[in-house]
Amino acid sequence: MPHLFNHWNHVSRRLRSAPKIALFLDFDGTLARLRPRPEQVWLDGSVRQALAALARSPRFRVWVISGRRQADVRNRIRIPGIRYLGLHGWEGRGGALAQDTVRDLSCLLSRLEVALADVAGLWIENKEYAFAVHYGGVAEPDAMRARAILDSVTEPCSKHFRIECGKNVWEILPRELGDKGAAVKQQLSLLRGRSIAVYLGDDQVDEPAFAALRGGITVRVGPVCGTEARYRLSGVAEVATFLRRLGMEFA
Ligand SMILES: [Mg+2]
Repeated sequence: MPHLFNHWNHVSRRLRSAPKIALFLDFDGTLARLRPRPEQVWLDGSVRQALAALARSPRFRVWVISGRRQADVRNRIRIPGIRYLGLHGWEGRGGALAQDTVRDLSCLLSRLEVALADVAGLWIENKEYAFAVHYGGVAEPDAMRARAILDSVTEPCSKHFRIECGKNVWEILPRELGDKGAAVKQQLSLLRGRSIAVYLGDDQVDEPAFAALRGGITVRVGPVCGTEARYRLSGVAEVATFLRRLGMEFA
């Protein structure tokens, strides 16, 4: 898996030849370091500065595409000119969930709240159109038991819902929401003129976007085993360096 900076000549040549750069960025684990709870995750000053410079540049179009709610991710960044997409890109594209999905989702949530109530350290985050089961604070055997419960409760609805495995989190998402791959393709289809897509993400949920952007510059952040991305960066500090380089060379 090649490191992005070891191939900088090739990458920068490709970026230089494109009139516009469509830059898609995941938030948690990519722009900001992960913390035990999602509400503790904030941007570092250096990342904020680099992002703001790119957002001001006419050469760049910048999206932050997160599994968080759109308002949440926007409030954590608050840089004008950036487009914020929540719930893996569904929120911000327009559209509403089918009535049946809304009903099934709330039914699934209440059944899981009961079934998982005795798992110490586990908590469920309600995102209105999806929910997330956080198991970072759960001991290993309990986490395995919780996953088995989650699978058995959601199995009858698997036609309409999918489970995404993130870092210390299982997300239950209506299939209608689509994934980050569908989201980036849709955003790119609205762009006028020739552009090159760049996508940075650290997690399994970013893989559909890597797969959708085979002609672009795709970067998996953090330790990797098996990815659709072309390049890697080691972590948030290198992402900050990359964003600064983009600003210096191309903005
Ligand atoms: Mg992430």
